[in-house]
Amino acid sequence: MQLVRVALALPLMRLFDYLLPAGQRRPPLGARVRVPFGRQQKIGILVDFPAVSEVEPSQLKQLSVVLDQQSLFATEMWHMLNWAAGYYQAPLGEVLFSALPSRLRRGESAAEQTKILWKITALGRQALSGGELSRMKKQQEALQALCQAPLEKGNNTFATSIWAKLKSKDWVQEVIEEADIIPWHQSAANIVNPGERLSLNKQQALALSQLIFHQGFAAWLLEGVTGSGKTEIYLQLIEETLKKGCQVLVLVPEIGLTPQTLQRFRARFSLPVDALHSELNDTQRLQVWQRARSGQSAIVIGTRSALFTPFERLGLIVIDEEHDPSFKQQEGGWRYHARDLAVLYAKQQNIPVLMGSATPSLESLHNVARGKYRHLVLSQRAGSGSRLSHQLIDLKGRLVHKGLSETLLRKMGEHLEKGNQVLLFLNRRGFAPVLLCHECGWMASCPHCDKTYTYYHHQRILRCHHCGGQHRVPMQCRDCGSTHLITTGLGTEQLEEMLSSRFPQFGITRIDRDTTARKGHLEQHLSDIRQGKSRILIGTQMLAKGHHFPDVTLVALVNVDSALFSLDFRAEERLAQLYVQVAGRAGRAGKPGEVILQTHYPEHPLLQLLLQQGYPAFARQALLQRQSMGLPPFSAQALFHARSRNEADGEKMLQQLADYFLQSKREKNISGLEVLGPMPAPLAKKSDQFRWQLLLQHPSKGVLQHLLTDFQSHFEPKFSSVRWSLDVDPLDL
Ligand code: ADP
Ligand code: ZN
Ligand code: ZN
Repeated sequence: MQLVRVALALPLMRLFDYLLPAGQRRPPLGARVRVPFGRQQKIGILVDFPAVSEVEPSQLKQLSVVLDQQSLFATEMWHMLNWAAGYYQAPLGEVLFSALPSRLRRGESAAEQTKILWKITALGRQALSGGELSRMKKQQEALQALCQAPLEKGNNTFATSIWAKLKSKDWVQEVIEEADIIPWHQSAANIVNPGERLSLNKQQALALSQLIFHQGFAAWLLEGVTGSGKTEIYLQLIEETLKKGCQVLVLVPEIGLTPQTLQRFRARFSLPVDALHSELNDTQRLQVWQRARSGQSAIVIGTRSALFTPFERLGLIVIDEEHDPSFKQQEGGWRYHARDLAVLYAKQQNIPVLMGSATPSLESLHNVARGKYRHLVLSQRAGSGSRLSHQLIDLKGRLVHKGLSETLLRKMGEHLEKGNQVLLFLNRRGFAPVLLCHECGWMASCPHCDKTYTYYHHQRILRCHHCGGQHRVPMQCRDCGSTHLITTGLGTEQLEEMLSSRFPQFGITRIDRDTTARKGHLEQHLSDIRQGKSRILIGTQMLAKGHHFPDVTLVALVNVDSALFSLDFRAEERLAQLYVQVAGRAGRAGKPGEVILQTHYPEHPLLQLLLQQGYPAFARQALLQRQSMGLPPFSAQALFHARSRNEADGEKMLQQLADYFLQSKREKNISGLEVLGPMPAPLAKKSDQFRWQLLLQHPSKGVLQHLLTDFQSHFEPKFSSVRWSLDVDPLDL
C-alpha cells in the first residue's frame, strides 16, 4: 500500500500519514486530498510519499478523495513555500493553505468555471423599441442593460424573478460564455497606449538601460527621491517584460493600492491588469488566481499576499515602497516578509526583482553594501517637481494654539491666500488621547487594556484604540467625583475643529481611519482634495503615502516628538522615512514647496542630520550605529510572544523557553547568542490578556535558524492557558 503524507491547515508542526486506496493513481505533490480526521473530514495537501510511517500500520487510515489531478503549486512556488515554512518556523500546512484562495482552501474546484450569460434576443429588442415595457420598469432596465453588454447569470443586480419573466417571453436567452482562449501575449500587437509613455530624463534612462541590459536574476534597489520618476521606470521595464510575453507581479504596501495607482497602470497598458485588494470577494480572488495561472492576466497588482499568485510565465517582480512595514505579516499565522521571499522566489525563477523607494530600509541598503542587491539612484525630481525648503520650528517656550505655533499658522495663511493647499500630518486619531480629572489626575482608561481611552468629541464617546471597546463619556471622575474633566493632547478631530474656526473660509478634509471606515469615503475625500473643494488637509499615515496632490505647497508635521525617544530601535528609521514621505507631498507640480516640522527638540541629531543632509546621510549614520550595537541588519532576531488571561502564566512559559535556550547555549557552546527576557510586551495587556515576549539574537541567521529548528523538535511547552507564537525577523519589538 502506498503511504502519503499530508499537511493540514492546523497550527501544529506535524504532518499526517494516510494510505492511498488500492487502485488509486498516485496524485502529484501539491494536490489536495480529503482525509478523515477524528470524526471529521479535512482538506489536506499532499507533501510527501514516505517509505515508512511512525504510525502503527493498523492505525493508518485511507484518504477519502483526491481532489486535484494536478499540483496547485508550480515547482518554484512549492520550493519557496517549503523553504519559508522552515525559515519562519511555521507549520507547513498553514503556509501552503495561506497561499491558496479561500474557495480552494474549502475544497472547491480549481478549474475555471464557464459562465452563463444573459443576452437580449431580437424579440427583446423589438419589445424595447415598441414601448410595450413602459409599465414594467425593472424589465425595461434589464433589457437596456443587456443592450450594452451581456450580464452574468446569478451575478448581476437584477432579481431572479425579473429574468424568469423576461425568459418566459423569449426576450432574453442564456448562452455559455466563450472562454478567452487566446492569451494576450499571442494576440496583443499594441501593448502600450500611445501618448502615455514619457520620454525619460538622463538618470532614468541610465537606470532603465541597466535594468534592460541585465539578463536573468538580479535584485535591484531603485533609490529615488519622491517624484523622481520611479514609477515611470517600473512602467517601462514592465513594458519590456510584457513584450517578451512574460507576466508581471507588482507588490504595493497596504495603503498604496489606491484607485489612482491602479488607474495609472490600466491607462498605460492595453492588456489585462488585475488587482488583488481587500474589497474583493472570495469568487473574485479565485478568478484572479485562475486568470494569472492560465496566463490571461498580464499584470497582477496586489499587497503582501499577492506574492502567492501563480503565474503561467512570470518575468518580473516589482516591489514599490520596499521599506514599508506592511510587507511583513505582523500577526496571526505565519509571519513572513513578502519582500525577502520575493527576492528568493525571483532567484529561483531566474527573473529580476525591482524594489523601489525614496527611503530604502536599512536592511536593503545593507544588502547593497554587501553586494547582494544592485543599486540604482535617482537624485532629482522628474517632470515639473521642484525643490523643497525645510524648516524646524522650536516649540519650547512658544505660544502654541492647540499644538500649532503662531509661525505655522501664519505660514498656513500665506499659502492658503495664494490659492494653494496645506497638509498637516498628525498621527493620532480622535479629539484627544487622554481625558483626565483636573482635581486629582485620574485618567479614563480601558479596563481591558490598561491604556487611556481616546476621547471623541463629536460622538461624545471614549474609544480604546487597542481593543476597539467604547464607553460613554463619564460626567464625573471615578476617583474623587469631581466634574471637572479635561482633555490633554491633540488628535486629528480637534485639529480639524480648531482650524475650521481659525480658517472658516477654507474647506477642510480630514483623512484617518475614522473618517474613511465606510466604503467609498476615502475616494470621496480624495476627490474633494483633487477638485480643490478642500484646501486644508489633515491626516494620519493614510494621507502621507503615495497620493499625488499637485496643489499642496506647505506640509507640516505637527508633533512627532514621541518617536524621537521610543524604545524600539527602528523608531528613528521609521521617523526618517515618514518625514521624507510626508515632505514629498509638497511641491509636486512645479510650485515651490515648504516643509515644517514642529518639535521641542530641534537639536536632536536625527533631525539635524535628516534636514541638513537628507535620508541617504541619515541611513549611513544609522547603519553605523546598528553595526556598533550589533542590531539588525547586523544580527538576526527571533521574537516569542505569549499571551494569557492569567498574568503570570505567559511569563512562566517564556521563562521555560529562556532556560531552554540558555542551556542550549552552554551545551552547544554557541557564543554570541543573546536571550533577552521574558519582558512585558510594549502593549502589556490587551483585551484582558497579558502579553509577554522573549527575544533571541545572534549575529548569524543560520545559527539562529538551526537553534529554532532544534527547539521546535525538542521542546513542548506545557501551558495550556498560554497562546504563543514565534516571529522570525520581527519588525515590531
Ligand atoms: P515616483 O514614483 O518616483 O514618486 P513618478 O514616476 O510618480 O515618481 O513621477 C513623478 C511625476 O513626474 C509624475 O507626475 C510623472 O508623470 C512625472 N515624470 C516622471 N518621469 C518623467 C519624465 N521623464 N518626464 C516628465 N515627467 C516625468
Ligand atoms: Zn478626580
Ligand atoms: Zn481596550
